[in-house]
Amino acid sequence: MKVELINQPTLEFVDSAVGQCWGKGKYGADTAKGKERIDKVCNKFKHASMLRFATYIFKVELSTSALLEWTRHQHADYAVKSTRYCTKQNPNAITVELSKNTLVNVMLLQHIEDIKQLIIDNPQIGNDDLKLLLPQGFIYEMQVQFNAQSLQNFLSLRTAQSAHYHIRALAHAVYESLPNEHKYLFKEFVYINTKEQ
Ligand SMILES: Cc1cc2nc3c(=O)[nH]c(=O)nc-3n(C[C@H](O)[C@H](O)[C@H](O)COP(=O)(O)OP(=O)(O)OC[C@H]3O[C@@H](n4cnc5c(N)ncnc54)[C@H](O)[C@@H]3O)c2cc1C
Repeated sequence: MKVELINQPTLEFVDSAVGQCWGKGKYGADTAKGKERIDKVCNKFKHASMLRFATYIFKVELSTSALLEWTRHQHADYAVKSTRYCTKQNPNAITVELSKNTLVNVMLLQHIEDIKQLIIDNPQIGNDDLKLLLPQGFIYEMQVQFNAQSLQNFLSLRTAQSAHYHIRALAHAVYESLPNEHKYLFKEFVYINTKEQ
C-alpha cells in the first residue's frame, strides 16, 4: 500500500470562483482571510461545487480488493496498470497486500509463488489467461485524479470504520499526503478512530 501526491494542487481557483459568485474578487487562497472564506462558503454553507476548481493527482499501489472499491467513485479519473499487458513480462512484480489472518496470508503467498512458477514453466501462456489467476490481494498501480469535492466524499466514505481495512488505510494515507495548508478543507471528512490510536 502506497500513496503519493504527484501534482502541486492549488486552491487559487477555488478562491477566485468563490469571489466570482459573491462579487468580492480574490482574497488569496494562502491568506487567512481567503482560507476562512473558502471554508465558510464551501464547507459550512455547503456551496461545495466551488471545490471542483482544485485538483489532486495521486500515484497509488493498492490491492485488487481496494481497487474494486476505489473505482466505484465515479467522480475521479483513473489510469490503471493493465494486467493484460504487464503480467508475465515481470513476474517479480506480482505481489500481494496481506490480510489480517495468518492462514489466509500463507495461502495468498503460496498462490503467488504458484503463479510465478507457472509463468516460468509455461512461457506460452498468455496474459489474458494468467490474469484470471490473480487474487484480490494482488497489488495494482494506478494514477487517480480527484477534485476537492469528490475527494471529501471519498475520504468520508473510505476512512469510516465500515470501510475495508485496505481502502481505509489508503484513505488515511491520501489525507496525510495532502499539503498541510489544504488539510483544513478535509479534516472534518476524515474519521479518526480514537481506539486505534
Ligand atoms: C462501506 C461501503 C460498502 C459498500 N458496499 C457496496 C456493495 O456491497 N455493493 C456495491 O455495489 N457498492 C458498494 N459500495 C459502493 C457505494 O455504493 C458507492 O458506489 C461508492 O462508495 C462510491 O460513492 P459515491 O457514489 O458517493 O461516489 P461518486 O461516484 O464519486 O459520486 C459522488 C457523489 O455524486 C453523486 N452522484 C454520483 N452518481 C450519481 C447518480 N447516478 N445519481 C445521483 N447522484 C449521483 C452522489 O451524491 C455521490 O455521493 C459500498 C461503499 C461503502 C463505503
